[in-house]
Amino acid sequence: MTTKEIKILPIGKEGSGPDEYGYYGSFGGAYIPEMLFPNVEELKTRYLEIMAEPAFQNEFRTLLRDYVGRPTPLFFAERLSKQFNTRIYLKREDLCHTGAHKINNTVGQILLALRLGKKRIIAETGAGQHGVATATVCALKGIECVVYMGEKDIERQAPNVARMKMLGATVVPALSGSRTLKDATNEAIRAWINNPTDTHYIIGSVVGPHPYPDMVARFQSVISEEVRWQLLEQTGSELPSHMIACVGGGSNAAGAFYHFIHEQAVKLVAVEAAGHGINTGMSAATTQLGRSGILHGSKSLVMQTEDGQVTEPHSISAGLDYPGIGPLHAHLYESGRGTFLSVTDDDALRSAFEVSRLEGIIPALETAHAFSALKQLSLRTDNTVVVCLSGRGDKDLATYMKAMGV
Ligand SMILES: *Cc1c(COP(=O)(O)O)cnc(C)c1O
Repeated sequence: MTTKEIKILPIGKEGSGPDEYGYYGSFGGAYIPEMLFPNVEELKTRYLEIMAEPAFQNEFRTLLRDYVGRPTPLFFAERLSKQFNTRIYLKREDLCHTGAHKINNTVGQILLALRLGKKRIIAETGAGQHGVATATVCALKGIECVVYMGEKDIERQAPNVARMKMLGATVVPALSGSRTLKDATNEAIRAWINNPTDTHYIIGSVVGPHPYPDMVARFQSVISEEVRWQLLEQTGSELPSHMIACVGGGSNAAGAFYHFIHEQAVKLVAVEAAGHGINTGMSAATTQLGRSGILHGSKSLVMQTEDGQVTEPHSISAGLDYPGIGPLHAHLYESGRGTFLSVTDDDALRSAFEVSRLEGIIPALETAHAFSALKQLSLRTDNTVVVCLSGRGDKDLATYMKAMGV
């Protein structure tokens, strides 16, 4: 692969980027405590300039190729295609180092942090996937890494905790609230306030204050950049009819949509977790249940009570178990550019088993939601559908074994 610049898309309404204040339509911005203002301001004024430097591009592209394993294949899924009587391609982010797309972003952010002169990295993690991807790049660059994780998640996700420790990271339990992801995020923000000058906070999705959603989307945009030339090679056209991705915070979807957002011929399908069902009180379908609000530094759609308290989400997949979505997705939803579907725990499980047997690929539970959405679309034989296969299912084996009754 040759070294190419990340395309800087036009800012504002027509492009994929936010305006200069970090807004996508009415969502985004930077709602931060005053003590974090200098950090966020430094990041905001420098991220585009650093990302455009040829030396940065070169190092980023080389690591993506030789360390992460890019380009990831675009695979024509023949048996799955037959089942749906259409043409389905899988973008194999599950084949990235550490097993998911998350490392595209952590590689980019560690290079950025080093160029900003930072000596220490902090991160939050829910299931531990982002924590592992962060600990990995910190080991690669020999930089201190502290990961905040809810005490309850530390108990539930023991293998990932062990991985982070083996990679040399310190895992700090978040003991407040529900002792899960949103509490870990609060702890990480608190830790950042206490070490504002020497520490960079690597956020794991397209959430957080501006410029994080845009920065993470740009690092993940390599996904759709590759899909365009891979589809051209395989089908003679760069554009799919449908691009489907699951949405927790929305980083794999943002990366999969990025270079298609301005292509009206491409239907962008975002799939949220319905949990036990949208109206059961045990769900994480943010666009269906949320209202405009502020969560973790930006204005977006947020699941909340009448008086604005963030509600506890539920999904069988830890990566989709988040009460918000990134501001880009809130805008895609509100503007109608994106189609938002939701899939229950049970339907996602069913699809995980079906895809495993049809294609010999065990998908992550998060990705299984994207596969299940195929059943909700009316697809034609001449459609070209791409599913972003965000991660592999090894981490979910305990859940899959329980479902099989073994
Ligand atoms: C973390 C994760 C997700 C959800 O995060 P996004 O930011 O929405 O992409 C989806 N799939 C996998 C495999 C993950 O690890």
